[in-house]
Amino acid sequence: MISAMQGRENRDKFANARERMLRWDLKGRDITDPRVLTVMAEIPREQFIPRSHRSQAYSDGPLPIGNGQTISQPYIVALMTQELRVNRSCDVLEIGTGSGYQTAVLSKLAQRVFTIERFSELAESAQAVLDGLGLTNVEFCVGDGSCGWPEHRLPLAGCFDRVIITAAVPAVPEPVAGQLADGGLIVAPVGAGGVQELIVCQKKAGRFSERGICDVRFVKLVGEYGLSQ
Ligand code: SAH
Repeated sequence: MISAMQGRENRDKFANARERMLRWDLKGRDITDPRVLTVMAEIPREQFIPRSHRSQAYSDGPLPIGNGQTISQPYIVALMTQELRVNRSCDVLEIGTGSGYQTAVLSKLAQRVFTIERFSELAESAQAVLDGLGLTNVEFCVGDGSCGWPEHRLPLAGCFDRVIITAAVPAVPEPVAGQLADGGLIVAPVGAGGVQELIVCQKKAGRFSERGICDVRFVKLVGEYGLSQ
């Protein structure tokens, strides 16, 4: 009886917190894409947060997820998703699965998501949460995403319509740029220091054009075409 009541209270607490996040941290700023707002209203962000920090699941800041990594703040997830302009015909490559929250947001908007993570513990726990939510259009991979998605596992088209990098890179890694379809977009935090610039990069007729969005702080993409530890 007591636990049933506690369960109800917990659900209500998160529902209110989710509503506040949407109103103040997303709509209250510059998140206007209704599809992004809808999926972020649907996804239980608390399930992606370790128990120790779950009560802060809807605060607009990064939180620790283990292995020295963090889940991005809701506003940044929303902003990157909005800038990526994903639709139901897109195959999306995500580099840096982390908690899997951004993966879940993308999976509800895209045709398929291909996500790669350096730490197997994070990839496994993200996969368990997505499975629990019934999000099945996601392929997981453990490896160095700075080298792109493994060639032998590429989708039929051989490339991706969208790429999102959720860790800091000194520049868009060349193998990753090579796996972007013509007309495709990359959203990534670019910079070698503690602060990076969030950029949107478009590939047209084999050439890249770039637009800066804002300053951000991400953990490093550690890898061959990324940064060192
Ligand atoms: N979108 C995630 C962000 C996680 S932080 C979330 O909101 O939860 C960035 C993630 O990138 C970390 O989990 C980190 O381990 C991972 N990462 C760092 N270098 C990587 C690499 N070379 N390849 C794949 N993942 C990497």
